[in-house]
Amino acid sequence: MSSELVIVYHRQPYEEVEIDGRTELRENKSPNGIVPTLKSFFGRVERGAWVAWKLAEDPSAPDFEPVVEIEDAFGRYSVSRLPLSERQVREFYHVTSKEAFWPILHGFKDRYNYDPVDWPNFREVNWRFAEAAAAEAAPGALVWVHDYNLWLVPGYLRRLRPDVRIAFYHHTPFPAADVFNVLPWRREIVESLLACDEVGFHIPRYAANFVAVARSLTETDLIADAPVDADMIAEGTALTERIVPTRLRHKGHEVAVTVAPVGVDAEFIDSRARAPETLAQAEQIRAGLGAAQLLLSVGRTDYTKGGIEQLLSFERVLEARPDLRGKLRLMHVSVSANRNMTAYEEVQTALEQTAGRINGRFGTLDWQPIALISRAVPFEELVAYYRAADVAWITPLADGMNLVAKEFVAARPDGDGVLVLSEFAGAAVELQEAMITNPFSNRSMDQAVLAALAMPEKERRIRMAGLRRVVERNDIRAWARAVLAGQAGETGASPPPDLPSTEPRPPRAA
Ligand code: UDP
Repeated sequence: MSSELVIVYHRQPYEEVEIDGRTELRENKSPNGIVPTLKSFFGRVERGAWVAWKLAEDPSAPDFEPVVEIEDAFGRYSVSRLPLSERQVREFYHVTSKEAFWPILHGFKDRYNYDPVDWPNFREVNWRFAEAAAAEAAPGALVWVHDYNLWLVPGYLRRLRPDVRIAFYHHTPFPAADVFNVLPWRREIVESLLACDEVGFHIPRYAANFVAVARSLTETDLIADAPVDADMIAEGTALTERIVPTRLRHKGHEVAVTVAPVGVDAEFIDSRARAPETLAQAEQIRAGLGAAQLLLSVGRTDYTKGGIEQLLSFERVLEARPDLRGKLRLMHVSVSANRNMTAYEEVQTALEQTAGRINGRFGTLDWQPIALISRAVPFEELVAYYRAADVAWITPLADGMNLVAKEFVAARPDGDGVLVLSEFAGAAVELQEAMITNPFSNRSMDQAVLAALAMPEKERRIRMAGLRRVVERNDIRAWARAVLAGQAGETGASPPPDLPSTEPRPPRAA
């Protein structure tokens, strides 16, 4: 009970490497990404703690220390590893989170799968996260919980530790009430989130959706809102909002609603993009292309990423424009993060079939229109591809933010390159100089990519300069500052809701 800051995130904050039968903990290879950013917050406090899960054959007698002390470049902190069985992980993460929550968060009602959900297991796992956080937090500490798979943690934690400040950040979209309210556990989830002192989102739309959901299900008053910053108003695009709610009251407890779009480490990516080895690699990539233009698409294999829709657009373009055959290559990187899950296997198969068909239809001995890459490309190598590409083609059907789009921009210190970006990626409200496209419209998709390929250099440079200003300004440090400002804005003085009159009990019994 001694940490002033407790970060609750499902993954451990390092990589585990097996060496001669021993498990060693290593710093994450790439300094890019959310984990190093979160750890950097430990530099601001005397003592921090992290709570994550770890697979255990027998969770009642795990073959590892539940709490380890870490000392690294980010300071000294402890990591509590909750031992979870394979079944618990599957049910909590792969089933409830990925089959039920994920499609709803992204607006895919028809992909939502209720039947296999083991709700008591989800509650129990969340309860254990809350218990571990409660055990680590110093009096009045800040506990910062991340993402939808831990939605019930704030409510449980409030019961266990009325004294702590609780902040929650969503790394995904938050859908409108008529989509969110498909979830039968909607009220329980929302009441848990309303036990926070602060709930954070990437963009104003998600904050507005959350408030609408909360008000549809509970007696919640909106007590303050504010005009959206002009920088976040992308005129005419799908995710733009003009007013954002900033404060709610629920059962006498005040909740701050904050917006802080996650950024990338623009400085780091910029320096990687200028490094001689990156330039040499980019040169090599370009030499391999001959006179062909490179279209680059990078994402996870997920129906939300719109990979198949993009390949179909590419096929239509090649069909309609025979003059472009042989003069274009699409590198489509689609990495499977969730192997063995039917929904993702289906997407992978469809990508392979579609890319195979297009290559078969249009390819020749010396020219394959699509290079479909299913393995993860190491970040350093990815930067060389960003640097070499003529067009980054990023067209998710729904995406909380999309960091690839920002990384591409940060990797272009040469000031060239075109970003084609879906208006359904959170990043679209910030990256207003991108070629914005609607992935639900064939015409919009095809026209945007054709316009990007044909864009004159002057326009490319003007747009890229604008994009770079935004990506540098709204970088990962700006996100950290915005998050801290939101958290500091809390007085912690308002009484928490629903304090139990008796000792809290585990959720199975509740
Ligand atoms: N990424 C990578 N190698 C790959 C594909 C992706 O390192 O082959 C990284 C990419 O650089 C980015 C992240 O994976 O940092 C994807 O983040 P994004 O926000 O675009 O999508 P998410 O997967 O979080 O939905």
